[in-house]
Amino acid sequence: MSHPVNEPILGYSPGSKERIEIKAELDRQISEVIEIPCIINGKEVFTGNITTQVIPHNHNHIIARVHLAGKDEMENACKAAVNAQQNWIDIGLESRCEIFEKCADLLAGEWRMKVNASTMLNQSKTVFQAEIDSACELIDFWRFNCFYARNFHDDLQPLVSPPGVKNSTEIRPLEGFVLSITPFNFTSIAANLPSAPAIVGCTSVWKPSRNSYLSNYILMQLMMEAGLPDGVINFLPGSGAEITEVALANPDFAGLHFTGSTATFQGLWQEIGLALPNLRSYPRIVGETGGKDFVVAHPNCNERGLLVALLRGSFEFQGQKCSAASRAYVPQSVWSSISDELCDEIRKIKMGDAMDFTNFMTAVIDQRSFDKITGYIDRAKADDSCEVIVGGNYDDSVGWFIEPTIIVTSNPKSETMIDEIFGPVLTVYVYEDNMFDEVLTLCDESSPYALTGSIFANDESDVQKAFNALRFTAGNFYINDKPTGAVVAQQPFGGARASGTNDKAGGPLNLLRWISPRSVKRTFEPPQNWDYQFMQPEN
Ligand code: NAD
Repeated sequence: MSHPVNEPILGYSPGSKERIEIKAELDRQISEVIEIPCIINGKEVFTGNITTQVIPHNHNHIIARVHLAGKDEMENACKAAVNAQQNWIDIGLESRCEIFEKCADLLAGEWRMKVNASTMLNQSKTVFQAEIDSACELIDFWRFNCFYARNFHDDLQPLVSPPGVKNSTEIRPLEGFVLSITPFNFTSIAANLPSAPAIVGCTSVWKPSRNSYLSNYILMQLMMEAGLPDGVINFLPGSGAEITEVALANPDFAGLHFTGSTATFQGLWQEIGLALPNLRSYPRIVGETGGKDFVVAHPNCNERGLLVALLRGSFEFQGQKCSAASRAYVPQSVWSSISDELCDEIRKIKMGDAMDFTNFMTAVIDQRSFDKITGYIDRAKADDSCEVIVGGNYDDSVGWFIEPTIIVTSNPKSETMIDEIFGPVLTVYVYEDNMFDEVLTLCDESSPYALTGSIFANDESDVQKAFNALRFTAGNFYINDKPTGAVVAQQPFGGARASGTNDKAGGPLNLLRWISPRSVKRTFEPPQNWDYQFMQPEN
C-alpha cells in the first residue's frame, strides 16, 4: 500500500489565491462574535456559564463567547463516549479511516481558510505558522494515522498457525473512553489527541485549552461534517481539574491523552494512581510535555546557519513551541563573530497584529504567560551573571507583546538556562573553545527536560561525539538545523525525561497505545480424547 504524502505548504505570497482567500476569511471572522457550545453526543449544549475568548494581539477584542461545561455536562459527556463505543467498533477500521480521511480532505480544501484564520486570531499565529500547524500538520496526522493503523492490523498478526489451527489477533481498542486534554499552542495537536485513539476504535472526551476554544470548536464542527458519529468525540470547554475529577470517578476511564506542561501532567498522573481501585482497567497514560530545547555549537561550524537557526528556532510563534530553542552553548570564537549580526537581525524583526503579513512575530497567548515571561526577563536584568543584549522590553497595553530577547549568561545553571519559559527568550552561555566535551555534559545534566536539541558542527567526529553524549538529552535531535519544525512521518515527535512519555505523536507507536489486542486461537477439529501419549502403559 503506498503511503500518503505530506500536505504541501501554501506560500501566501502577495497576489496569491490563498492570500486573497485568507484575508477575506480573517475579515469575516474578526467582524463576528460566535457562541461556542459544548458538544455532547453530537448535540450542542449552551450552558449559559460563559467565558469570553479574546485576540492575544488585541486583547480588548472578543471573538467568541464560550459556554463552559458544568458537572452534569461532564458526566453526560463521559456516558455518551462510553455508549458510542460499541457502534464505533462495529463499523470497523476501514469506515473509521474513511471518516478521518474525509476530515483531512475537508481541511485541505474548503475548510482550510476557516481553520487557519481562527488559529491566527485565537492563538495569534502568523499566516505561515497557522498554515504549518492547523492545516498541514493536522491533515498529515489524519492521513498518516489512518495509513499506520491499517498497516499494523496486518503486522500484528501471529507468525505461526500450525496445521489444524488458525491463530489471529483482534486489534481491539481500549475498553472505555479516553480523556484528551489539549494545549493551546498547536491546533493540530488539539484535534489529534482525541482523534488518534478514535481511529483505532476508542471514544473520547475532549477538553480543549481555554486559549484555543475558537479554532478547536471549528475543528469539532469539521469532524461532524465529515460524518463522525454522535458521542465518538465530545467537546467540553471547561475546567481541566473538574473534568478530570468527573472522568476518574467513572470506572470506564481507559486512558489519558495529554499534551501540555510538565507540572499539569505530573499532577494528572498522580490523580490517576489514586483512582486506580475504582477503575475497570489500568488506564494508558500518554503525555507530551515541556522542553528546555538546546543548540550546541562547535567552534568549527556553519556560523550563518547557526545564526538563522537561533533566530527562527527561538522566536517563531514567540517561542511558544515546546521545541523552541531556549538555551544555546556557543564557543567564544563563534560568538565573537556572530553576536553583533544576530542582534542586528533580531532588531529587524517586526512584531504586531497577525493580520499584518509583514510581521514575523505577534503576541504571547495571555496575561498569565506575559507575566511569567517578563518575570524571567526582569530577574535576568537584575542578575549580575546575566546581560540582556537585545530585546528585553514588553508592553501589554494592546496585546501581550514581548520583544525577542537574548540573555547572555556566565552562569550555565542560571534559571533561564534551566526552566521552560515558553516565550521569546533565548539564553546563551558562551564557553571557552577548548571546552566542547565539558559543554556536552553540561547540556545533558543542566535541565530535567529532554525534548529537542541541535548540534552545529562541520566535522563528522564532532557530530558523533555530540550524538553519543546527548543520546538521552533530546527525543528529537537535529544536526546542523534548528530544533523546531518536526514534520509528521519525517521526524516523529516526542521527548523523554520530564518532557513526556515519548510515544511519538503522528506515528504508529502512539496509535499502539490505544489498542488492547485479543489473541484468538481457532481449532478446526477439537481433540476427542483427553489422555496423552506419554500416559500409555509400557510394553
Ligand atoms: P498547560 O499545562 O497549562 O495546559 C494544557 C492543558 O491542561 C489545557 O487544556 C489546560 O486547561 C489543562 N489543565 C491545566 N491544569 C489542569 C489540571 N489541574 N487538571 C487537568 N487539566 C489541566 O499547557 P499549555 O500552556 O496549554 O501548553 C504549553 C505547554 O505544553 C508547554 O509546557 C509546552 O512545552 C507543552 N507542549 C508540549 C508538546 C510536546 O509535544 N511535548 C507540544 C505542545 C505543547
